[in-house]
Amino acid sequence: MQTSSPAVLRSLMEQYGIYPKKRWGQNFLVDNNILQRISELSGAHTGLYTVEIGPGMGALTQLLAQQSRGVLAIDIDETLQAPLEEVLAPYTNVRLVFADILKVDVEQELARQFQLDHIPEYIVCANIPYNITTPIIFYLLEKCPHMQGATLMMQKEVAQRIIAGPGSKDYGLLTLMTSYYADTRWLLTVSRNCFYPRPEVDSAVLQFTPLPQPRVQVKDEEVFKAFLRTAFQQRRKTILNSCASFFDISKDEAQAKLEQLGIKPNQRPEELSLEEMASLVDRFLD
Ligand code: SAH
Repeated sequence: MQTSSPAVLRSLMEQYGIYPKKRWGQNFLVDNNILQRISELSGAHTGLYTVEIGPGMGALTQLLAQQSRGVLAIDIDETLQAPLEEVLAPYTNVRLVFADILKVDVEQELARQFQLDHIPEYIVCANIPYNITTPIIFYLLEKCPHMQGATLMMQKEVAQRIIAGPGSKDYGLLTLMTSYYADTRWLLTVSRNCFYPRPEVDSAVLQFTPLPQPRVQVKDEEVFKAFLRTAFQQRRKTILNSCASFFDISKDEAQAKLEQLGIKPNQRPEELSLEEMASLVDRFLD
């Protein structure tokens, strides 16, 4: 069923008494060309499983089902069950789960739904709910070690933060954390006109390819992440002040360590690369 046609989508929603819910970021894609390109670029193929977050009314799910070995589609909104079952009836390789993605063990669920005794090779492909974009990205990169790649549609501004370079205003925690775990590629820019209802923002599709090892080796990953979080919460502080207060040492001592690393004490966190941040934190843990 062409739920990518606005007219078909609206009549199906009417038939099932469904209205788009803002709190769950329900903006359905209604542009067939964009849907086709996302599913093609996702890398889905019949040897591979696909996990979709937030299938909505199933527009993307149908295309993924045609291309994948199996699709696990997880949506929080149970009222979508009946229309989704109708739309997806022709596809026997789709499993629907109604739950909050952040509370599901995706890999276990994938094995369970397809009755496998191991976690299969899989990718993620989704037009995700924009209000929880960052938690979803962190969840996938930190908690889904078998994931081969993720193709995600998100608000354009968030995508810009992810691919930003040091020194730009968009560069920050999200940039560094995604680069720690994955290579990232900008696939598409998508106008707000491609959605129903039309959101206030434009979108972009990024593709994440997890690295076999994090991009930098650090002595203590938890301390490293905690330092990044603190430093970027206080973007206006110099790196000297952030280091002295986070590691609880005198400014003189902090300055000496920074100088050994070739980092100027008055630099701001957004001027430092991932590699510099890693060697900085390791140095302060000595
Ligand atoms: N993929 C569809 C719908 C995208 S809208 C399309 O492109 O047309 C985002 C979808 O994410 C909605 O269906 C919404 O119900 C779902 N969603 C929102 N929060 C969620 C959560 N925490 N876990 C799983 N799904 C969620």
